[in-house]
Amino acid sequence: MAKAKFDVPELQEYLEVPPVTPGTMAHSKPFVSKPEFQEALGFPGELVDDWHDKAIEKMGELLGKYRSLQVFLDSCVKCGACTDKCHYFLGTQDPKNMPVARQDLLRKVYRRHFTLAGKYFPKLVGAEDLTEEVLQDWYSYFHQCSQCRRCSVFCPYGIDTAEISMAARTIMDSIGMGQKYCNEIIAKVYRIGNNLGLPGPALADTMEGLEEDVFDDTGVEVKYPVDQKGADILLVTPSADFFAEPHVDGLIGYGKVFHEAGVSWTVSTYASEAANFGMFIGSYENMRKISQRIRKAAIDLGVKRIVFGECGHAWRVAYSFLNTLAGPWDFLDPNYPVPQHILEFTWDQIQKGRLNLDKSENDHMTLTFHDSCNVARATRMGDKPGGQFEIPRNVIKAVCNNYVDMDADTIREKTFCCGGGGGLLTDDLMEIRVKGAKPRVEALNNAMQEHGVTHMAAICAICKSQFSKVLPYYGMEMDQIVSIHQLVSNAIILTGQKTDEDEDEDEAA
Ligand code: SF4
Ligand code: SF4
Repeated sequence: MAKAKFDVPELQEYLEVPPVTPGTMAHSKPFVSKPEFQEALGFPGELVDDWHDKAIEKMGELLGKYRSLQVFLDSCVKCGACTDKCHYFLGTQDPKNMPVARQDLLRKVYRRHFTLAGKYFPKLVGAEDLTEEVLQDWYSYFHQCSQCRRCSVFCPYGIDTAEISMAARTIMDSIGMGQKYCNEIIAKVYRIGNNLGLPGPALADTMEGLEEDVFDDTGVEVKYPVDQKGADILLVTPSADFFAEPHVDGLIGYGKVFHEAGVSWTVSTYASEAANFGMFIGSYENMRKISQRIRKAAIDLGVKRIVFGECGHAWRVAYSFLNTLAGPWDFLDPNYPVPQHILEFTWDQIQKGRLNLDKSENDHMTLTFHDSCNVARATRMGDKPGGQFEIPRNVIKAVCNNYVDMDADTIREKTFCCGGGGGLLTDDLMEIRVKGAKPRVEALNNAMQEHGVTHMAAICAICKSQFSKVLPYYGMEMDQIVSIHQLVSNAIILTGQKTDEDEDEDEAA
């Protein structure tokens, strides 16, 4: 079990609403962004002198631009339905992690400055000014929201706390109080093309290494191309796929599927990142700049299609915003969706019978599936409602014999966040990450005890990184989390692939 500098919550058999313990997570704050990262994104380098007035001005600007924000701030009736729905409240007991209380941190300032009652009778309507103390609460608790939108599923008014948290982060960025992890990453994408700062030559080396590994393993020359002009498909995938485990096993799987489908494909060194952290800080300007890189890469390489790899929030940005941010995509082949998810591609190939699959290659595992928040609650796949739930499960069942779902209250649209989404996947937030993972790990543990589940598959780079880090805190193994395309990769038998008998003969020779 990984050692923690904080108390790791005990897993329970059934989800229990914990007693409220005020202030337990008030100390949790991510590192503040350095001036160089702030400025690269168009924000002030550090907290400006007139931060109060500038923050209120920004809030006014956001309220004018996004009507949804004002509707969310006006319509809460304090029914309480959301209070026990956030994994961060369930894992920490801190009442400010109840979605309604998190919203109220912004709502009280909104009321003070933008409503008549709040201006004249602040105490009566819970209005409060933006003091230094309130700003510190914003910084702490709006970085304890992974923008997973689970609370909005249970709110009778559909209030989306994720939007409120994005607005709060935008306001803080605009006064020079941004979060280091998100802003450093976005600045890296501008400078180098991906979140990890992986330069083009290193990326090319990695892909060449994958070609060698797959050849050694199968005897088949599967290509992992970089910057190949005129390829059919531009694969835009999270940069974690290039080297992290289990992500890279998924990338190997994408390559095998493309190979068997007989399509040419490439990644781009210029747009070598599917992730778009502009969404986490609520900045459409930065989301647009990152998305525009994909457009430029697609034009420069002359591809016909764009396929996204396994990444939750990237699929949300792609599915919901890519056309608005970087369209029109009229230079691509209109016979295919823009963009397309790798699972849609693979499922299509499976349905057409183009993949030779041996499910028994995954018989050493009993799988369950973790629906990633952004895919589950903010996107779709395929052409039927609920495709984002069915297609990943269909693909898993097509390549594995043993599959069991976790408890119904913790999957599909009610899925629990991994605890590391929304820009929280940083070591300085490890305590909230571990505690926030509790409801999901609890459901996994129950599936392990009751159904002999051994592994959990996911289709989000953040979920994979988060689980491989936090599972050991709960006494589980880091490699219990796997990529769906890792399972596909295990099961796929490539045309001309070496059989076990061939290998025996090679050895004998
Ligand atoms: S969006 Fe998710 S993390 Fe944020 S308050 Fe709602 S349930 Fe909690
Ligand atoms: S469920 Fe909706 S209306 Fe009810 S308290 Fe929560 S945010 Fe307010």
